[in-house]
Amino acid sequence: MPDLSQQFASDNYSGICPEAWQAMAEANQGHQRAYGDDEWTARAADHFRQLFNTDCEVFFAFNGTAANSLALASLGQSYHSVICSETAHVETDECGAPEFFSNGSKLLLAKTENGKLTPQAIREIALKRQDIHYPKPRVVTITQATEVGTVYTPAEVRAISAVCKELGLRLHMDGARFSNACAFLGCTPAELTWQAGVDVLCFGGTKNGMAVGEAILFFNKDLAEDFDYRCKQAGQLASKMRYLSAPWVGILQGDAWLRYAQHANRCARLLAELVADVPGVSLMFPVEANGVFLQLSEPALEILRSKDWRFYTFIGAGGARFMCSWDTDEQRVRQLAADIRLAMNA
Ligand SMILES: *Cc1c(COP(=O)(O)O)cnc(C)c1O
Repeated sequence: MPDLSQQFASDNYSGICPEAWQAMAEANQGHQRAYGDDEWTARAADHFRQLFNTDCEVFFAFNGTAANSLALASLGQSYHSVICSETAHVETDECGAPEFFSNGSKLLLAKTENGKLTPQAIREIALKRQDIHYPKPRVVTITQATEVGTVYTPAEVRAISAVCKELGLRLHMDGARFSNACAFLGCTPAELTWQAGVDVLCFGGTKNGMAVGEAILFFNKDLAEDFDYRCKQAGQLASKMRYLSAPWVGILQGDAWLRYAQHANRCARLLAELVADVPGVSLMFPVEANGVFLQLSEPALEILRSKDWRFYTFIGAGGARFMCSWDTDEQRVRQLAADIRLAMNA
């Protein structure tokens, strides 16, 4: 038997939530039109328009790397550049896909505190060089929630988009954990995106209870021109699209998308609280979404590994990352916290 116990290495260790599973089962009836021409895909797109309270263009891709890369490629030409945080997933975890799919657009990295780009950092990078020899800045990408578990407030997004407007830059949001950001802030998806000046959002489903799939929302509809062809060429057009879109109907038609994110965030806060007084443990970033980054001693990391705990130490700024997900069991959080305490006291 494989070991099925819950782990905290990533929120994508979890399975599929009942709402998504049920919708896939309902979609699994009879024959339906292919390539996104089916009713489930239309319904999912309508749910996004309702949730965001705007008439956006909606596309579906298999994963976040494709969604981000193709969205960024659609925002500029190959000679343009994309400003991002040095800890951004597009820089550190997509194997050069953004550069590949844009035919060479260069990523320009900003040093960031707590994983967040600032208007000032964007301005500095965008204005550093304006000569013909430098790739022309055209796009800014921010991650919401960030790779280190922090969240941009609507005011912070608005301040970034104001600089973007001033400098002629387009604004992309990597929302692999967008639901967790909404859950933390308690604001509407609209307030965090198009009302704050975001042109394109990649909305993650995989890390919040779906089997697979990310949605790409163009609030600036002009930018979506031919995006369907771009997806097809990149191998991202699912012929049986209903299985990619139906789970979105499942989690968006009620409040499952938000409820699960709230649960994951709550579990992360619980973990942080339970280890807060352990001597030698320090919290590397404020716990705002569903991730907890802890600085632990090397021997403690070894002890935890020997007890079969899985976690990453290469994400963001090092340290041990623990992610909670839609189905995280509170008892498991308590076990982990107790083992961290034992390991640090050993
Ligand atoms: C998980 C994640 C993605 C998507 O990754 P894939 O493995 O390509 O689905 C994108 N951005 C961030 C910040 C992520 O954490």
